[in-house]
Amino acid sequence: MKVHNFSPGPAMMPPEVMQEVQQELLDFQGSGMSIMEVSHRSAIFQGVIDQAMLDLRTLMEIPENYEVLFVQGGASTQFAMVPLNLMQKGRVDFLDTGTWSDRAIQEAQKYGETRIVASSKDKAYTYVPEVEEGKLDPDADYFHITTNNTIFGTRLNQIPGLKTVPLVADMSSNILAERYRVEDFGLIYAGAQKNIGPAGLTIVIIRKDLIGKANPRCPKMLDYQTHAQKGSLYNTPPSFAIYLAGKVFQWMLKEGGVAAAEQRNQEKADSLYEFLDASSFYTSNIQPPHRSLMNVCFKTPDPEIDVRLVSFAESKGCMFLKGHRSVGGLRASLYNAMDIHGVGRLLEVLVEFEKQQ
Ligand code: PMP
Repeated sequence: MKVHNFSPGPAMMPPEVMQEVQQELLDFQGSGMSIMEVSHRSAIFQGVIDQAMLDLRTLMEIPENYEVLFVQGGASTQFAMVPLNLMQKGRVDFLDTGTWSDRAIQEAQKYGETRIVASSKDKAYTYVPEVEEGKLDPDADYFHITTNNTIFGTRLNQIPGLKTVPLVADMSSNILAERYRVEDFGLIYAGAQKNIGPAGLTIVIIRKDLIGKANPRCPKMLDYQTHAQKGSLYNTPPSFAIYLAGKVFQWMLKEGGVAAAEQRNQEKADSLYEFLDASSFYTSNIQPPHRSLMNVCFKTPDPEIDVRLVSFAESKGCMFLKGHRSVGGLRASLYNAMDIHGVGRLLEVLVEFEKQQ
């Protein structure tokens, strides 16, 4: 039985990439060694990391005045690293769109004053609130947003902010899946384990003028300058994860880059939302303009039926449809590696399940 993996992360990888990795797992480019066995100071690994950074730059059209950093610790470490590096006056603005923005707020509060300029908590985070420019602090050190809310299934369809205040974005669940202008941001961060590669690698894209101003008490490993000065090789990096990310970047370039990925993602998400909206059994309570292309949250008429659907779908090869434990219901994650046929299979399974009720 063919398995379709709808996990929110770690998530499915492109099958072509996995095959390539399998082929060269024991012998990387005639070296007689696996890439995971070689020194991060070797010429072999240097070639891999250089190419991966270059390809990410090409994919996202990252301008010269931005540094690309490959670090560890997940997006959760960025919740602390961002304030430790960017807080000068000690005032930051946040858009509260769910659990992950809240985690970022909790962490930043340890270092200064945080202000929530808009929140969708009033309606259980089922939409993304409008940000009135007048509400933003022109003297804030930065303004933090989460471009895609993995747990609630919403996304920002417009990028808010003031040109004069660095915009910081947690793009963990939709980096490389939708087009963004890097120039609109001071800093972008993302854990790799959804659209890029295995867990263990975190991507940071930071405007160069924001580097080198860390809090004097900032641990060296958490200072962006440490990693920028050493080409992300200050200490041992997650070398195998970087190698795999590089493979995914190459795959994306071959498949037409971010614009083509966005188009495929839109088609995949549309086919599922159209089905849900036409159904009297399944519902999505996310407001249409804010529906995520990556994480489609929905439910049946009864939480007990949701539980049964998760098992039924698994018996048919559609894995990990259980919603996040904090919201319940169902969630299908459709990252870049999921193709339209996977969504087609999910629709068949949903129809079959409904018929049996
Ligand atoms: N931000 C978002 C939007 C996420 O989806 C996640 C993880 N699902 C995180 C942050 C936390 O990431 P990590 O587990 O890499 O720390």
